[in-house]
Amino acid sequence: MDFLKTLNPNQIRATEASEGRVRVVAGAGSGKTRVLAHRFAFLVNDLGIAPGNILCLTFTNKAAQEMKHRISSMVDRGAVNDFICTIHSFCVKFLRREIYRIGYPKNFSILDEEDAKTLAKQAMNEFGVDRKKLTAERFLTKVAMLKGYDIDAYIQRHLLPASSSDCPDAQVRYLRLQLKQYALDYDDLIYFTIYILNHFPDARSYWTDKLNYIMVDEAQDCSADDWHLLKILAEGHGNLFVVGDPDQAIYEWRGANPRMFVDFKAATDVILDRNYRSTPDILDVANSIIAHNRNRVPKDLYTARLNERRVIYRHHKSEREEAETIAATIAEGIRNGAKANSFAVLFRSSFISRTIEQALLKQKLPYAVWGGVRFFERREIKDVVSYLKLIASDNDDVAFSRIINLPARKFGAASMKELSLIAEEREAPLFTTLRSLIVEGHRRFDRPAMRQFVELIEQGRRLAASIPVSELTDRILVDSRLADLYRMDEKEERLENVNELINAMKEFERVQRDDGDMTLDGYLQEIALYTNPDAATDADRVKLMTIHQSKGLEFDTVFVTGLTEGIFPNHRSIRERRQDGEEEERRLMYVAVTRAINMLYLSEAEGYLNDSGAMKYPSRFLVEVPDGLLEVQGDPDPVLFEGTRRLVAGLNAELGEGSEEVWAPGTRVTHRVFGEGEIVRFDPQAQSYRVRFVGGERDLLPRVLTRKP
Ligand code: ATP
Ligand code: MG
Repeated sequence: MDFLKTLNPNQIRATEASEGRVRVVAGAGSGKTRVLAHRFAFLVNDLGIAPGNILCLTFTNKAAQEMKHRISSMVDRGAVNDFICTIHSFCVKFLRREIYRIGYPKNFSILDEEDAKTLAKQAMNEFGVDRKKLTAERFLTKVAMLKGYDIDAYIQRHLLPASSSDCPDAQVRYLRLQLKQYALDYDDLIYFTIYILNHFPDARSYWTDKLNYIMVDEAQDCSADDWHLLKILAEGHGNLFVVGDPDQAIYEWRGANPRMFVDFKAATDVILDRNYRSTPDILDVANSIIAHNRNRVPKDLYTARLNERRVIYRHHKSEREEAETIAATIAEGIRNGAKANSFAVLFRSSFISRTIEQALLKQKLPYAVWGGVRFFERREIKDVVSYLKLIASDNDDVAFSRIINLPARKFGAASMKELSLIAEEREAPLFTTLRSLIVEGHRRFDRPAMRQFVELIEQGRRLAASIPVSELTDRILVDSRLADLYRMDEKEERLENVNELINAMKEFERVQRDDGDMTLDGYLQEIALYTNPDAATDADRVKLMTIHQSKGLEFDTVFVTGLTEGIFPNHRSIRERRQDGEEEERRLMYVAVTRAINMLYLSEAEGYLNDSGAMKYPSRFLVEVPDGLLEVQGDPDPVLFEGTRRLVAGLNAELGEGSEEVWAPGTRVTHRVFGEGEIVRFDPQAQSYRVRFVGGERDLLPRVLTRKP
């Protein structure tokens, strides 16, 4: 096939190895993602496989869009976008077809973090849990533990419509509330999918038969649950193709398990070692930093490209100077003909974006923040979406509570309490309860404002069947007077955000028109998976983002900012996870540096740290680059690097001491998933602790435990 001419021999081997278990292990910019796209086209064009029989998993929604785009230019048949998606969106597609089997409606809802917190607070209030002692976040971690222990048991006991209705504590109450509105959180999407596959053989054979080929990008960041699901899905045809780079594993803190990718037993193993993305100097900087990780299989990347300009390290007297220098460099580049979107500014923590944003605004440079305040978590967006959610489903009590008094309809806490009680008695959702009470002429609820509200939602339902979501939203904004409210608030930003939402809906409608699924339900399930407005993707703007967000992407010019010891590497991560924490920080640095195609700027500034007030010193990662590789600007005082060395040595000594001592039985410790527990004993042979948690005992390595002060 012609399109294979643009690949090197190893890439072609990976592309054409269609059968069995295949793995590609390769460094950044070596064409892993490119191979994935070509392989999809090869399967369709050369082997005649229908796109609907191929599952192609990417790590983010954005990456999925990009992948669809690349692939559709290479294949000639039909819609290709059925199953090019993230693992969570795959589960949503799966569940829309299969969830009826366990008594859930097709339009089940998806809880994001804020929805979950609202439910958690309700359950905690009902059981009189002191929220000053236990935050909603901690509460949810406990619920996650409860789920993680035994997926089958918690689904059967708590989340099936037939489960018992007794409610011993707030956590179980939370699950009941979740069930009442048929809501799934992100973990549940995977758990429910696995549950159905395990309990319904005909569903299992349908899907394992349908999915002839499964491909996974960024497999180093899959969790054990993800791998479990992949294993089941691939059991029919046995064709599982995984690509990844262990040096870019950056989600261990959130449960990813890179070991499972490293240990993956493949029939065909392909290594790619030529980097097509970056100049030799950029690559040398990346290679020299990652070489400091002890826990890795050494691999080196080479490039046939030529150096154009050197990698620059800039030291600054203040954060403001750092930000202004970046903005000035970008402005100059644009004057010389570069496009704004060829520049990306990367940082370890999102708070750093503020100074950069201000500097860019001053220079009147267009920019977009990815992963700042997440678009769909902004207040006004949640308001509007709640209207849509209630229109989509009677059961959505969270949405109802959010909008019943927005704009104000004289529906305060007392009304809410009374309505909840009645709804509870009747075992009905809040909205239908309100509707019945109006019909019954209830003194409190049968009044014009309530009637109008119910009519507004009912009218929305009639409209939803005939007009697109974007138009429906427009109507609701006007009819509910929400638009007036935002206008009166004199907060331009809110209206702009709402307009951006409508924009994003139109985008959705354009994409979905071919698939024939532009229903309100389809839209709501889609956006529940978003963390950002995807509409901003193509605009010509400077891109600001955290390094986590930049994974898999490439930009002509990259600024890695805030390279201060403590911020990057982040000392909190190192304190919590010691060497593992440090190495994950270093992999983040490797990811950041390898995003650059032609030009890379590393920068940091003098001053004091926000949290501790301690003096700032340059990051150890800057020290790890061999002399002469960086062009140094801003004349940093050598004393500063002495400070870095002292700081690193001090931290190592502090953590080193703690790790040699053996904790006595009874010592209180915490674990990120299992929560708080107590040491039972130490097993010197296995070098592990037996720890007693609320849900049972576990044998765990010291590095995953933190001693409670
Ligand atoms: P990352 O690890 O950052 O995700 P990757 O291994 O997925 O990187 P790609 O994004 O697929 O790498 O490729 C990096 C760049 O190199 C892209 O611009 C891609 O088009 C280009 N490239 C890859 N292989 C070739 C090739 N054989 N010929 C020309 N360009 C290539
Ligand atoms: Mg990639």
